[in-house]
Amino acid sequence: MKFDILTLFPEMFGALEHSIIKRARDAKKIEINYVNFRDYTKDKHRRVDDSPYGGGAGLVLTAQPIVDCVEAIDPKRMARRIFLTPAAPVLTQARVRELAKHEHLILLCGHYEGVDQRAIDLCIDECISIGEYVLTGGEIPAMALVDAIARHVGGVIKAESVDNESFSVEGRHEHPQYTRPREFRGLGVPEILLNGNHAEIKKWRA
Ligand code: SAM
Repeated sequence: MKFDILTLFPEMFGALEHSIIKRARDAKKIEINYVNFRDYTKDKHRRVDDSPYGGGAGLVLTAQPIVDCVEAIDPKRMARRIFLTPAAPVLTQARVRELAKHEHLILLCGHYEGVDQRAIDLCIDECISIGEYVLTGGEIPAMALVDAIARHVGGVIKAESVDNESFSVEGRHEHPQYTRPREFRGLGVPEILLNGNHAEIKKWRA
């Protein structure tokens, strides 16, 4: 599965260079490319932002570099194109599972006040929020989305882990987990986990 992440700040993506996601990349189960859409601007000063029509604070990312960038990396419109924005439906595990079925995702990270709506209208299929709060840019949301989706790509982690974790059934949270030692600072482990009765353990965990 391929992710193309459109960002002005590719250096922010260190979190995808470690642990399970790094192993998945090394094993070629997922591919992640960072594309700086500033490289597509036609502005002679390489600007990609401007003040908002109608006035107001901050800067808005202009449509031209974003639209040209998306069209250059997906000329036949084969990819699912996503814009990360707080002004959208909040991501759920069910949506993550659906998105993991796509071969190619393009993730657009906004910054400053956001993105000229015409870029969204022209080249985005879906807008996703990662929660009802506002972050500085779309980079952390894009990392969260890639990480959540990668877990559902075959072979990245054990199917058993994905099938039994929180939200694998809607609204379900996973049971508490315990490992050695059997007693820690006076706290034990639930007896049921120690008796080897797998049917009872399964019931307790459900
Ligand atoms: N002015 C925008 C608003 O009020 O909706 C917020 C812009 S925010 C400071 C800059 C960028 O960060 C957004 O364009 C988006 O890409 C990203 N972002 C911030 N919070 C987000 C969230 N909760 N989910 C997804 N993306 C978010």
